[in-house]
Amino acid sequence: MPEFDYDLFVIGAGSGGTRAARISASHGAKVAIAEEYRVGGTCVIRGCVPKKMLVYGAHFAEDLHEAERFGWDIKGASFNWQRLRDIVQTDVDRLEGLYGQTLDNNKVELFNERATITGANEVTLASGKKLSASKILVATGGWPFPAQCEGAEHALTSNEIFHLDECPKSIIIIGGGYIANEFAGIFHAFGADVTIANRSGVILRSYDQEIVGKLQDMSVAKGITYRLNAPLQKIEKNTDGTVTVHFQDEKPAQTADVIMVATGRYPNADNLGLENAGVARDKGGAIIVDDYNKTNVDSIYAVGDVTDRVQLTPVAIREGHAFADTVFDNNPRTVDYSNIPSAVFSSPPIAAVGMTEKEAREKYGDDVNVYRSDFRPMKNVVSGRQERGLYKMVTAGPDDKVVGLHMIGPESSEILQAAAVAVKAGLSKQDFDDTIALHPSMSEELVLLK
Ligand code: NDP
Repeated sequence: MPEFDYDLFVIGAGSGGTRAARISASHGAKVAIAEEYRVGGTCVIRGCVPKKMLVYGAHFAEDLHEAERFGWDIKGASFNWQRLRDIVQTDVDRLEGLYGQTLDNNKVELFNERATITGANEVTLASGKKLSASKILVATGGWPFPAQCEGAEHALTSNEIFHLDECPKSIIIIGGGYIANEFAGIFHAFGADVTIANRSGVILRSYDQEIVGKLQDMSVAKGITYRLNAPLQKIEKNTDGTVTVHFQDEKPAQTADVIMVATGRYPNADNLGLENAGVARDKGGAIIVDDYNKTNVDSIYAVGDVTDRVQLTPVAIREGHAFADTVFDNNPRTVDYSNIPSAVFSSPPIAAVGMTEKEAREKYGDDVNVYRSDFRPMKNVVSGRQERGLYKMVTAGPDDKVVGLHMIGPESSEILQAAAVAVKAGLSKQDFDDTIALHPSMSEELVLLK
């Protein structure tokens, strides 16, 4: 008789948990996974994937408007939120099915119920069934912070926003991060009156602020309103279904169809029974792990947003994979967190890898060079759109090694992934300059920076 029911029990079938489960199984482990909601996790079910589909839908607003300049007559074009919403959800269902199939193909046993830890080697399912495992992996992700004020229950989060009955005519988005800026672009394109309200005077704090400034300027020119230095005070629901939002600033309260809160996500680690096994958490509630994703309890590991290291799907996937190789393939692997590329799917998108100019100057002092290209994409010239792109390269040291690349402009997320390989490889400005431009393209600006 084996000592345990499973070699590995994973709690949470999101990006990190699913990858860890399937790779561990492919290494020969007997694996089970529990998921209390839907297989796929935040990214697939109510995050990156459906959001990107809405972003695609939003692009048509400007493209249709400009189509005439390219010779097309588009008469009577109108937008149907319900149709897009439902098609997006159908695709989410399809992807959820594929995730389930992957688990099945790898002989990972799926329990569609909540699991809690009841011992260092034991989980208990919501149905009461107790199961034992040599190793337990917690991959329960994160959860949006609710509004921190009176009337918080009237605010939606990114969990609910995909399911709206109607496209709002007006929306106030609290927060100045990824989600706020992405949904501002989406709802503005769908015709809503959009306000981004943030507690501080800064948005997208971790991004290069020159690039962020461009986004702000372009967003304001489009009609998006920023209400900065405006902490929330109170939210009231009106009889007509609208909400009135009071801020701790000088301006009057503001009324809109919808208020959405996007002020970060916290580790989803409460009520998981971690205390039953003595698993340590930090002040923010994140599970503390070592470089090999192991907690202070030898049999319990954690990956992804529940550890609050870098809250990005591809990072959770890398952590899950590294865990599986380390524990079940005798191949100890850690994740390299340097130079992780990221993007904000705002309109236009921002993409970046490496240090901002400010970070580089803090680290290297005067030994920093900055090269820029501020250009109007050819498509915008033809269409008459005034929006410009900005690419910015930050280098350091005598060799002009590229330590940061920052972009705003159409398709910047698509372009940056390839350029991130060069930054990760430690290439210099000269290496970029030595590469012949691919003409005509926006990406050629990367090798023509001055
Ligand atoms: P972010 O961490 O990106 O931003 C949080 C924002 O909320 C900041 O602007 C912050 O302001 C503000 N804020 C924090 N607390 C309050 C408060 N009490 N009142 C008002 N404003 C507040 O959070 P998001 O919710 O946008 O996204 C969560 C995470 O999800 C991201 O960190 C990211 O890792 C991930 N994500 C990634 C995406 C991508 O890769 N494209 C897309 C969407 C999400 P301040 O700066 O002043 O503190």
